[in-house]
Amino acid sequence: MDQIKIGKFIKECRSKNNLTQSQLAEKLGITDRAVSKWENGRAMPDSAIMLDLCKELGITVNDLLSGEVVTMENYNENSEKIILEMVKEKEKNDKLLLKLEILIGVVCISIMLALTAVASLVAMEESLRILLIFIGLVPLLIATPFMLKIEQIAGYYECKECGHKYVPTYKAVNLAQHIGRKRKMRCPNCNKKSWHKKVISKD
Ligand SMILES: [Zn+2]
Repeated sequence: MDQIKIGKFIKECRSKNNLTQSQLAEKLGITDRAVSKWENGRAMPDSAIMLDLCKELGITVNDLLSGEVVTMENYNENSEKIILEMVKEKEKNDKLLLKLEILIGVVCISIMLALTAVASLVAMEESLRILLIFIGLVPLLIATPFMLKIEQIAGYYECKECGHKYVPTYKAVNLAQHIGRKRKMRCPNCNKKSWHKKVISKD
């Protein structure tokens, strides 16, 4: 999405509606700094506020995301472009999330190994040794639900039997047997159980 173009368009619509940045900000319950950021193309209005903003400016969400008033002739082409860009954006974010998961895992396991090494190599009271090993496990215990959540929502799982790509429930991901990122799950499409691999793209 062209943030600069969208910013200019917001500014144009605001002026047409005879609103100053602070008047628009007040109507939306946000700071005028936020409005200025949008108009300079440094930030996008987040989805929670988009509908209200469009209402105040008298435009559609499609207009806003296109950075211009969308006419009937270019409507389809425009929405397709926007959907495509959103898919690309999601794929990019999903890849980042999966990398982040690996990073979290590596950090947690390193902490665990380091504390276990200290506990086994350094002379100390037995109770302190046990405490150190226990503390070493804490980061991994805290991080595991987050890592599972990433596994669930980033990208899709692909059924080996029918090729169906889907986002499973958290419970299914949590309970499934796994080797690396592959998980043995029941496909919601063909209902067969097989090893499903993680894919980023739906098509
Ligand atoms: Zn299937």
